[in-house]
Amino acid sequence: MSKLESLVYTNEKCIGCNKCINVCPAMGACTSVDVDGNERRISVNGTYCVSCGACMDACVHGAREFHDDTERFFADLKAGQKISLLLAPAFLANYPSQYGSVLGGLKQLGVNRIISVSFGANITTWGYLNYIKKYNYLGGISQPCPAVVRYIEDYTPDLLPKLFPVHSPMMCAAVYCRKELKITDRLAFISPCIAKKLEIDDPNNEGLVQYNVTFDHLMQYVREHRISGPNCKDEIEYGLGSICPTPGGLKENVYWFLGEDVAIRQIEGKKRMYEWLQNNSKRRHERPPLQARRYRRAYQNSRKTRVRGAREIGRWRSRRVAHGAREGR
Ligand code: SF4
Ligand code: SF4
Repeated sequence: MSKLESLVYTNEKCIGCNKCINVCPAMGACTSVDVDGNERRISVNGTYCVSCGACMDACVHGAREFHDDTERFFADLKAGQKISLLLAPAFLANYPSQYGSVLGGLKQLGVNRIISVSFGANITTWGYLNYIKKYNYLGGISQPCPAVVRYIEDYTPDLLPKLFPVHSPMMCAAVYCRKELKITDRLAFISPCIAKKLEIDDPNNEGLVQYNVTFDHLMQYVREHRISGPNCKDEIEYGLGSICPTPGGLKENVYWFLGEDVAIRQIEGKKRMYEWLQNNSKRRHERPPLQARRYRRAYQNSRKTRVRGAREIGRWRSRRVAHGAREGR
């Protein structure tokens, strides 16, 4: 998909109320166009849109829609194409009562294997831990969200070197399927996210995944075509990766392994996220290099002090426990 075509688009229900413009983080993505001479609509310019979906939540007139690969997925399945699924763990959380029958129905239509992306999330966590420990890396930005990655590429490119060079859970799961499970089928991601299409189509990802099938469009298709089958579930046992899609899930995974001494900032909400990226980018320009080095040294020193402090407290606690035991408390 070229950058000129947008995943998100405006339909004929638009009344030009401008609510989408108010929430859009991408300058120039929402533009006013004249329709039939005197009507005004706010359309989406794909050159600037990062597919964050904020306007879809804001538009109460149902005037924003999006493209994904659901129709092509079902057409290819009917045509006999061999397809396996990468299933986002949020599918079970969003559709607990339909989860089994929908997967069963897809199996009946010819889907081969169904691999949980929770396992990919475990691999992603391993990638972050490895990188942090190996390079003693500070100040990185995690990158499972393709809208955030696209925003950095287009609006704050000076932050590009801060992105962790670790794949998202979806891509880690895809690599695992190809390399370890030797799955050669086409892969469809059952996805909660419009922007995943940007990641799937990114040439750097070498065509590992072929379809972004969003929950919304999948379930609409399932309802319209009455797709249902005997209960079925996804493959591969998984652990903490299953909490990755929840707010702060990756942070909790890293805390679990490295302890809560590591500093992780959790930034949620579309508005806060993009503002934080802008402010961070500005600060990097404003701070002279010498000051930046001093700041970094001061931070590292304060961290060492905190770690030393934590160790001291630990020793003090053990002494207290030993003392209590001697006193018979
Ligand atoms: S797309 Fe929706 S929010 Fe934006 S101007 Fe049209 S009706 Fe308003
Ligand atoms: S999807 Fe996000 S970036 Fe694109 S027009 Fe809507 S609010 Fe703006």
